Amino acid sequence: MKNILGKTFECSCGKTHEVPDIEILEASIREAPDIFPDAFFIADLNTASLVNLPGKRSFVFNERRPLATMENIEKVMKASGNFPEIVSIGSGSLTDIARYAAYLSGKRFSCVPTAPSVDAYTSTVAPILVNGVKKTFKAIPPGKILLDIEVLRNAPMDLLRAGVGDIVAKIPARMDWILSHVVTGENICDFVWNDMKDLLKEILLKSKDILNRERSAIKTLIEAHLVSGINMVIMGNSRPASGAEHMVSHLIEMFHEEKGEMPPFHGLTVMIGVFVSMKAYEALVEKKEIPLKDYSIEERRKELLELFEERKVEEFLKTYAEKKFPKIEADIVGEPLEDIYWEFFPHLKRTLETIDVNSVINSYSKDFLSRVVRLANTIRDRFTILDVFDEMKILKNFSEMVF
Ligand SMILES: [Zn+2]
Ligand SMILES: [Zn+2]
Repeated sequence: MKNILGKTFECSCGKTHEVPDIEILEASIREAPDIFPDAFFIADLNTASLVNLPGKRSFVFNERRPLATMENIEKVMKASGNFPEIVSIGSGSLTDIARYAAYLSGKRFSCVPTAPSVDAYTSTVAPILVNGVKKTFKAIPPGKILLDIEVLRNAPMDLLRAGVGDIVAKIPARMDWILSHVVTGENICDFVWNDMKDLLKEILLKSKDILNRERSAIKTLIEAHLVSGINMVIMGNSRPASGAEHMVSHLIEMFHEEKGEMPPFHGLTVMIGVFVSMKAYEALVEKKEIPLKDYSIEERRKELLELFEERKVEEFLKTYAEKKFPKIEADIVGEPLEDIYWEFFPHLKRTLETIDVNSVINSYSKDFLSRVVRLANTIRDRFTILDVFDEMKILKNFSEMVF
């Protein structure tokens, strides 16, 4: 990855890709105050103890998992005064807070990841909660990323599991992209897959080592997350990193937020989505018979209304109505899909067992998860395998037999 940082190049996909210039350095987290001599630091109750933070230039949230809300961003903007840079010491949400606060106040932004759990570190956008609704805003990439492998390998076990869950999602996400390319003609880029697939394979083979906190395996995991984030920046959207599995995850996350609950770590719900996509591709590639069953728009609306307030449901249904469902031809499974399937899926299946996907699945009722599976393609205009199943009229039955 390091050889493309800061470069602009013409890609075989027809686009000119611009890669942000991010400096990635490996050092002890304790050196952070010297590495960023004029920066203002933010941390939370879990991460503050990792560094001896200079009191005058730091702000510690009095919580274990501060959310990326506008209120928290305003707090940081105020506290950071005239310091020219904001540095986050934490994982996903804390990084989003620092990134957006820095962007809004015209400051530089850098980050010190404390868990290899998400691919948001190298991102240029920030998902922020505004009045309880998650919105993605344009922001800036980090100038520097300081990696302390000792800190990363000692992250909480659930964040390591989540980190594996969110990264293996790139496999079904790529397959959804290929499907959409074949069915809808969506533009596709091979560069962003080629720079990712070897890392993914390595992670599938080393998933036990990751949970055993082995240095080299943890290093591969964080590198894969950094590359994945850069791939989204290169493409200008999250297509390389997010397909049906993320829609399943988002629906579960939104359901928790609707009830005013803190959702599980992102990669844990993504894990359920990866399991669903894996089963769907298994059926598609191995031509497993799924009986037809109607799933009417009235039934969809009714099931959505049982989970979400009406305003949101109408918004979802509008998105769904605008989706185009091209006629699915019999031969949509071509070589690129089959190649990924046979190369990755046997390992993917074992990896999901290693990170214990069943314990996450079992924390919900089967009935709830089935609904999530048949409703997930309602919430976003992105074409995935769930749309293929919807068009083929097998989505309802698939959702009832997947768990
Ligand atoms: Zn994700
Ligand atoms: Zn490209």
